[in-house]
Amino acid sequence: MQTKRTYHVWTAGCQMNEADSRRLAQQLEFLGYSPNPLAEAADLVVLNTCVVRQQAEDKAVGRLTTLNRAKMDRPGMIIGLMGCMVGMREAPGLKERFPYVDVFMPPSDTGPLLDFLRDRGLFAELRAEELRERDALAAILDEDLPVPALDRGCAVAQVPVVLGCSHACTFCVIPYRRGAERSRPAAEILNEVRSLVRQGVREVMLLGQIVDRYGDDLTDMNLSKLLKQIAAIDGLLRIRFLTSHPNYMADDVLETVATTPKICPHIEVAVQAGNDIVLERMRRGYTAQHFRELIAKIRSFIPDVAIHTDVIVGFPGETREQFMDTFRLVEELRMDKIHISKYSERPKTIAARNLPDDIPQSEKEDRWRMLEDLQTKILGEKNQRWSGQSVEVLVESHHKGKWRGRTRHGRVVFFEDPRAELRGELVNVKIDWAGPFSLIGKTAGAKRSVREPELVPA
Ligand code: SF4
Repeated sequence: MQTKRTYHVWTAGCQMNEADSRRLAQQLEFLGYSPNPLAEAADLVVLNTCVVRQQAEDKAVGRLTTLNRAKMDRPGMIIGLMGCMVGMREAPGLKERFPYVDVFMPPSDTGPLLDFLRDRGLFAELRAEELRERDALAAILDEDLPVPALDRGCAVAQVPVVLGCSHACTFCVIPYRRGAERSRPAAEILNEVRSLVRQGVREVMLLGQIVDRYGDDLTDMNLSKLLKQIAAIDGLLRIRFLTSHPNYMADDVLETVATTPKICPHIEVAVQAGNDIVLERMRRGYTAQHFRELIAKIRSFIPDVAIHTDVIVGFPGETREQFMDTFRLVEELRMDKIHISKYSERPKTIAARNLPDDIPQSEKEDRWRMLEDLQTKILGEKNQRWSGQSVEVLVESHHKGKWRGRTRHGRVVFFEDPRAELRGELVNVKIDWAGPFSLIGKTAGAKRSVREPELVPA
């Protein structure tokens, strides 16, 4: 009897890549592949890559080198390279650099791999695939599309709603790699969410590079309407959406978040810098004062909101004083999490072509450290309010003897509970210790059915 072929998907980078990998896994499972946790032992390995930072790209190259060695021992192994390293129009020189890679796939596009499998003359597989595709179509129409095995047991799933980006911030490679912005049809998204919920998913994160622009290219559709339609899905408990751009956050979305209990009071809106000259050179299209006013508006619509943001330090030409404007803005606004990155030049971007990467690495490290210390202090202070409180946690995983989940505000909680399985459950946790980046506690009171409405806003 022929043993089942196995696949392994390795994912780097953003949640959009995670969602793409989940779809790819779904398709491979329809083709009859089963997951293999060990890349080197799998028949088919796909690296879904990210190039937003040099470090992520280096990691992917390291994995490719290891896979090349494995392929020398097992020449039948298929290696696929996907995502931003490939780009929308295959990056030049990739085939020469990695001759042992069988197939290259742009972000969000699994077509080349499916074509490759067909072209290899895998007829039996192709026939099976056609049958499965028909089944898959029926499953989608029945709103019963299976979740791939790698996701089974996961309470949270990412669902892309806007693909690509047309904004062209000077530092960003996404528009070149993921193409122009386009929205997925609402019906397709709703079917996907219903299907995920049927298989145990309790929280969805709607993803877009500028998620607020959802529906701009559709008729009579926008993010607020989509959120309301998703919130009406039975069995779904929580919704988040990210990332927002300060220029596109609409009042009706804030209103919808404030008035729809299923939507978490959690906003991710990227500021990137707190100095107007730097913002202009980044071509972000707003000023620090505009961002300040936006944060005040978000807080007025949703008083107990968690706001996360992104900051880049060491952008070309950023002086120490300009960086200090960012530092002071972060200090003033006391947001709930900051994803800080050190600027790294990405090929083809406007910044790479026109702005020399002139801030020494040691200075970037220093600015990063200053902001990191500041946010550690702010979050340490802010999180004290949870100490001794009961918070509602959606359980996601088991980690080093403790359950791990998140509150509605997106805070990570570790807690003890002797029960054997809690993933996908909502539990109330009494917090004993509140640190800057996580909360620790014990379950308080009985576990509630995941189908009940949420009672304790955390
Ligand atoms: S908005 Fe700017 S930073 Fe965000 S994906 Fe688009 S180009 Fe990149």
